[in-house]
Amino acid sequence: MHPARRAGGIDEAELKTEPSSVLTLRDLDAWPTTGVALAVLGHPIKHSISPAMHNAALAEMAQRDRRFADWTYHRFEVPPDDLPTALAKLHEKQFLGLNLTVPHKVLALVHVKHVDETAAHAGAVNTLRWRPDGWDGFNTDGDGLEAGVRDDLGVSLRGADVLLLGAGGAARGAAVQCLTKGCSSLTIVNRTAANLEKLLHDLAPLAGNARLQGRLSSEGAAGLPPGLLVINATSAGLNPDDPLPIDLRPLTSPSGVYDMIYNPPQTALLREAALLGIPHANGLSMLVHQGARALAIWSETRPPVPAMQLAARNALRRS
Ligand code: NAP
Repeated sequence: MHPARRAGGIDEAELKTEPSSVLTLRDLDAWPTTGVALAVLGHPIKHSISPAMHNAALAEMAQRDRRFADWTYHRFEVPPDDLPTALAKLHEKQFLGLNLTVPHKVLALVHVKHVDETAAHAGAVNTLRWRPDGWDGFNTDGDGLEAGVRDDLGVSLRGADVLLLGAGGAARGAAVQCLTKGCSSLTIVNRTAANLEKLLHDLAPLAGNARLQGRLSSEGAAGLPPGLLVINATSAGLNPDDPLPIDLRPLTSPSGVYDMIYNPPQTALLREAALLGIPHANGLSMLVHQGARALAIWSETRPPVPAMQLAARNALRRS
């Protein structure tokens, strides 16, 4: 059992940190001994809306169950070289759970005591849970993506023909989810051949009956089958002058376009989808659902997804 679960109510005087501020490892030196702490680690982290989303969920959960009244979620700026120290210190301070974002998802893997099957297949962890001898590692990105695509586009991964753009950490989680949930085919498009080949090689044992193939971004979308679900897992679109990760015009009747990017809320890819009349959505729903899954792992209860959605939307509007 996590020791903080046995702790009493929160000592407000002892809580020296504001959940919304950006913390560093130095803030851990005077960390309160009461309360249950959760956090996201990243570099950079100041734009993360996870604290707003999780603290809104915790506030609602506390109204139903006072156990959650002293749970707080923080954000820590952790450069990649500091990750091993950060994980050791946060474990010593008995943080119950951590989320990891860019660039830590793959780097953290070797520091985790036990990795669940999804994270092992993806080769990346985005959620850690405290255990006495180290961290348990999970990857909730794939579940988040599946739920986001279902909610926003009404499309199920089972039986889908998926065109996945990208071969980085997010694409790995998405590809594992598509294959383990029984997609009919998975075509992965990436800019750099070596990264594409490595991903296809790692995924081959999971493919089962699904058709798994790759193509380079430079080859474009010509000749692909009709009805594809397009998922953008590249970072092309984060900046206004980024190139399109793919030109959608050669595709025949795509079932939808899901862009994992949510800030900016409308990328050039989503604008093109709108112009072509293709159902489309940004990655906010994925962020919310991967967060809800992480909170379910830590709290062993069902988190309030609508409260998380509202808080995430409001935080994004303010950012
Ligand atoms: P990553 O590991 O750095 O991978 C980046 C990918 O984007 C690589 O495949 C890279 O291709 C490709 N890429 C980068 N710039 C490109 C460009 N100008 N043109 C074409 N391809 C380009 O990053 P990641 O962690 O996978 O994240 C990818 C995106 O997903 C980010 O935008 C992130 O914000 C988003 N994401 C969203 C959620 C959510 O909850 N909504 C969760 C996770 C990630 P090369 O192999 O050629 O370098």
